[in-house]
Amino acid sequence: MPTYTHRCPVCGEFDQIRPMSAAGRDASCPDCGSSSSRAFGAPALRGVDPGLRRALDASGASADTPQVVSSVPGRSRRATPVTRDPRHARLPRP
Ligand SMILES: [Zn+2]
Repeated sequence: MPTYTHRCPVCGEFDQIRPMSAAGRDASCPDCGSSSSRAFGAPALRGVDPGLRRALDASGASADTPQVVSSVPGRSRRATPVTRDPRHARLPRP
């Protein structure tokens, strides 16, 4: 029987060996008993370049736990481009 990963909303992910006929059904968490939906992850990546694996792990981590910032990122230091075309002076302004 294959091993399926499920994600409990309280405890997190856990693996469970189940028959393929039960693959689509929710599983109950072994710790708290909550109904847990199946979590889909990357396939076995044993032969993948370590750099690519780190990038995939970082991508997954940012999707699961996005980085929280405490302030708005700074503005670009590049000034807003100013046109010198005289036709642009006649355009309507807000
Ligand atoms: Zn749980």
